[in-house]
Amino acid sequence: MIAENQRLIRVRDTDDELTCIVCPIGCRLHARRLDDGSLEVTGNRCRRGVAYAEEEFSDPRRPVTGTCAVSGGEFFRLPVKSSKPVAVDDIPAFLNVMYELEFVAPVECGAVIATDIAGTGIDLIATMSMREEE
Ligand code: SF4
Repeated sequence: MIAENQRLIRVRDTDDELTCIVCPIGCRLHARRLDDGSLEVTGNRCRRGVAYAEEEFSDPRRPVTGTCAVSGGEFFRLPVKSSKPVAVDDIPAFLNVMYELEFVAPVECGAVIATDIAGTGIDLIATMSMREEE
């Protein structure tokens, strides 16, 4: 399933269309890598669109969310998220480690429950409090 998900994240061509997701306007951007290495971006209403396109072409990242096993709690799975967006190439390793982790209730929402997942330097955050089973 992880390899299947990974294929959904397309590597950008040197000339590509993309939608800026930095704000709700969602400008439709056209970005093209020039011979001097710079990126020409059109369709953006502000400079943040240029920065977004640069990152998408050079170092695309995505927030990672999922669930981890938890014992002794009111539920069997604990919702979690990455503390920062993860580089697309690191997401399979990040998910493999994340799905192997097991925690013990109680867990507080917002707590850092694991650090430096798969050597990325990115931590794992609980997104729900898990009380002990009564
Ligand atoms: S380019 Fe600027 S205005 Fe357009 S979606 Fe991105 S952040 Fe919003």
